[in-house]
Amino acid sequence: MGAPLAFTATADAAHFINGHSVTSAHARRQPVFNPATGAVSRQVELADATQVHAAVAAAQAAFPKWADTPPVRRARVMFKFLELLNQHRDTLAAMITAEHGKVFTDAQGEVTRGIEIVEFACGIPQLLKGDYTEQVSTAIDNWTLRQPLGVVAGVTPFNFPCMVPLWMFPVAIAAGNTFVLKPSPLDPSPSLLMAELLKQAGLPDGVFNVVQGDKVAVDALLEHPDVKAISFVGSTPVAHHIAQEAARQGKRVQALGGAKNHMVVMPDADLDQVVDALMGSAFGSAGERCMAISVGVLVGDVAERIMPRLVERTKALKVKNGMELDAEMGPIVTAAARARIAALIDSGVAQGASLLVDGRTQTVAGHDGGFWLGGTLFDHVTPAMRIYQEEIFGPVLSCVRVPDFTAALDLVNAHAYGNGVACFTRDGHVAREFGRRVQAGMVGINVPIPVPMAWHGFGGWKASLFGDMHAYGEEGVRFYTKQKSIMQRWPESTPKGAEFVMPTAK
Ligand code: NAD
Repeated sequence: MGAPLAFTATADAAHFINGHSVTSAHARRQPVFNPATGAVSRQVELADATQVHAAVAAAQAAFPKWADTPPVRRARVMFKFLELLNQHRDTLAAMITAEHGKVFTDAQGEVTRGIEIVEFACGIPQLLKGDYTEQVSTAIDNWTLRQPLGVVAGVTPFNFPCMVPLWMFPVAIAAGNTFVLKPSPLDPSPSLLMAELLKQAGLPDGVFNVVQGDKVAVDALLEHPDVKAISFVGSTPVAHHIAQEAARQGKRVQALGGAKNHMVVMPDADLDQVVDALMGSAFGSAGERCMAISVGVLVGDVAERIMPRLVERTKALKVKNGMELDAEMGPIVTAAARARIAALIDSGVAQGASLLVDGRTQTVAGHDGGFWLGGTLFDHVTPAMRIYQEEIFGPVLSCVRVPDFTAALDLVNAHAYGNGVACFTRDGHVAREFGRRVQAGMVGINVPIPVPMAWHGFGGWKASLFGDMHAYGEEGVRFYTKQKSIMQRWPESTPKGAEFVMPTAK
């Protein structure tokens, strides 16, 4: 592959409402950085309630006609969108690298995983099929069908500016809803390109809208009576707030939060595989993945056997501008995030963990202004430490030593978060018991980052998800539709008189 073309912004990032870019000279703005250089690449407008109300009004106006459009025709728009996304895959990936910092090949992977949800949404006619029972009583049939909710909103995090919105809006729109997306202001560009591509695909104006912004925009969405459901992905405190507030306002809500994913390594595991898996899952995307492995749970003598190799590999990580094709890890998203992660590393040292590789001194030649932090490795971490309890969301792997499988499982299950988890072993019984007993929503057996495929649905347990439904897959279809049951009788011509007894099958 030749060198990819870097993304350069040409104007401030604005909103996309009713099929058009909407900008306001007097809006609040905040800078968008290229994390690899530290330079400001563009400004992003921050919506106030006026822009949010305009977006919801456009979505509300577009809803009746879109909901009435036959599912097969809605699916055809999705097929066209899919084609356009594939054509613009590398442009989207370059945008992600320019504003998030993750390496270009990883950004391409993000776009691909998002595209898979659009492929799933193309099957919406099949997914919306209801159930039918003929003759529930004499001359009476009963069936269920699913109808869209109305205007639904998505609030998404910085770490997957393309994939996480794609977890939501293709399914919501294909099911007949109209959508308002509020992406992270840290990397606003991919959402706007996707809005343009939907328009090119033939989506009617108003069906998909983007408002850039912060808490002000989210509060306006939460308070708006025409917003029927909110999908949120982000940190746990905000997810908890959104879930409570949406419920208080009578809205359907799914709020996916933070994580602290453990990988249990049994002594019989293939340790070559384990070392590769830990490196990729702890340091890929600089650990800024909700499915990143943050804790290595090393059972029995595993620590003695792999720690020297982990030290060597962590020190050798290629930390570079993500547009360089041999980069393994890019910068941290912002200077503030870098400072927060460094402070957590300080706390690990202060609380007595063994710091074997220290990423705080990382520099990258020619990129002095970038937000750099190298791979960081701790051993002898205990559950009492902040680096064990808190989500770090950076390239920090904390290793805990435990004597046996039961201690490993108890440790994982006692943690407040329950997003993803992995177990590496060659023992089928251990693998089976782990899968059955572990308290987490997504489990990998010899798979470090078990992000479910498009038709399975994504979601954690405990403090990693508030609400009932996982994102995308059939759970996503259920979330974005409500069930209706219809019971039908065509009366015979001779009237029977009123019936005052509870009807039962005759
Ligand atoms: P964040 O919670 O800071 O922001 C998420 C979204 O909420 C953004 O759009 C942001 O503008 C908005 N927001 C922020 N503060 C708000 C407030 N007080 N009120 C209303 N809205 C607010 O998260 P982030 O830093 O963008 O993303 C990283 C976090 O997301 C991590 O905790 C990570 O684990 C989590 N995440 C979870 C999943 C998952 O599927 N569980 C996936 C990706 C990321």
